[in-house]
This record gives sequence, structure tokens and C-alpha cells, in this order.
Amino acid sequence: MSRYDDPRWTTARFESKCHKMAKCPKCGKEIDYLRDFSPVWQEFKAFIGKNGSLDFETAGNECPMDSRDDEYVCPECQEVLFIDYQQAENFLKGVNYADTMERIKG
Ligand SMILES: [Zn+2]
Repeated sequence: MSRYDDPRWTTARFESKCHKMAKCPKCGKEIDYLRDFSPVWQEFKAFIGKNGSLDFETAGNECPMDSRDDEYVCPECQEVLFIDYQQAENFLKGVNYADTMERIKG
């Protein structure tokens, strides 16, 4: 079981504007969204517990960190496909990344 199978992780759904489904380059299945794993800055209460060493308790405060560290994972094979927001968006829109770079340059 990979850490991505943990149900505590939220699944972000990216709606695709075009009808063409994106195909996962790893497993070949058609997917219309990616699972986005985004780091959060979470607050814990750190204290000396019953066993005499540092213990932690969640304090409930969470704030998202810079989304440049996101991992975009295929919902079918759980492989990390992208770590780049723009690449993930282009993939779901069915835009070829190389073509996009050509257009930016040209
Ligand atoms: Zn896949």
C-alpha cells in the first residue's frame, strides 16, 4: 500500500474543458482528473509524554504550502505523472507539452 492509498488524502478533481480524455503515459488508462498531493504546514503540540520523551498531538491548524511542490498522481496506477501545475493542466486538456513550448517560443 503506497502512501497515496491513504484515504485521509483528499482527491482534487480537475475538470477538463475538452471532451478528449487524457491517457496516462504509465498505465495507458483514460483519466479525466489527477490526484493532487499538496504539502501542508500543520501545527502540532509538542510535549513530554508519559514515556518521558517528546510526544505530539495535532493542534488542528493547517495551511497549504507553496503548490510548486504538488505531486499529480494517476488515479488508476498511483504513479506520479507531474510535479508541475502547467504540465498537469495541459495533460488534462489534451495539450501536448512540446507543442505548448513551441508556441511560447514562436
Ligand atoms: Zn496510470
